[in-house]
Formats: sequence, structure tokens, C-alpha cells
Amino acid sequence: MNCPECGAPDTLCQTRFDEFLVLEFTNAGYGVVHHLTVAAYMVQHSSKMTPEGWLFERNLLREFLIENKPPAYIRKQNKDVVDSGKRNFKIKSKTGLPVINKTTWQKTILDVRAENAEVYCEDITAWAMSVLEESEKISEV
Ligand SMILES: [Zn+2]
Repeated sequence: MNCPECGAPDTLCQTRFDEFLVLEFTNAGYGVVHHLTVAAYMVQHSSKMTPEGWLFERNLLREFLIENKPPAYIRKQNKDVVDSGKRNFKIKSKTGLPVINKTTWQKTILDVRAENAEVYCEDITAWAMSVLEESEKISEV
């Protein structure tokens, strides 16, 4: 069965995501794009999130890719908001239902090559950029 959310064959996206996280945590060359891997994956798998959480992740992609804000800066900004109790929404879904109805995407995590850190970072960025472009066309959330 294909993934009902990103369309990856045999729902291999989850396995691949878990493998990539291990790679990123154990190898700094891969770890530099960790923020993109997580945000792109979450945007494609909206059942893991509340509508507010989904919009938040999509906006993160924009901040990373278009506004070129460094991950550390965004982490600090978000941490301050959470610490001060200003973020008044939950990110993680309680219902497990997708918040968007898009099920086919130009690229999935399966398009990312992982032979070496250079191609890995290149492909994660290309995948994240394509996820951002397609997700920004979605207006009903
Ligand atoms: Zn998937």
C-alpha cells in the first residue's frame, strides 16, 4: 500500500525517516539539514499534527528556505515563545486525522539519496523546497 499522505510506495517513508534521523544524529555532515528533514516530513504527513501545528511547520520551511534564518535562531525564538507561555496551540494531533487532503507530491523522502553527506544535503533541500512550493498552494487548512 502506498502511504495515504505522501504517496510513497509501501509506506516506506516512515522507515526512511527513522533511518535518516539516526544518520543525522550520528553524523554531523548529515545533521546540518535535520531541521529541513523534520519540517518537510511533518508537512507531508499532516495527520501527525493539528491544523495550527501544520501551518507552523510550513512556515518553518519558509523561514529556513526563503528567509534563510539559521535553525539555531528559530529554535531560540520558538523556545522563548514556549517558555513564556505565548504559544497557545498544540502541535501534535490528538485525532490522527490528516489536516490537508493532498495525497500526491512531486517528491517524497524516498527521492533523497544518502550515499554521502553532500548529495544527502542537496536532496533534502530539494525535497524540502518542493514540499514548501506545493504546500503553499493549499489554502484550506
Ligand atoms: Zn508518507
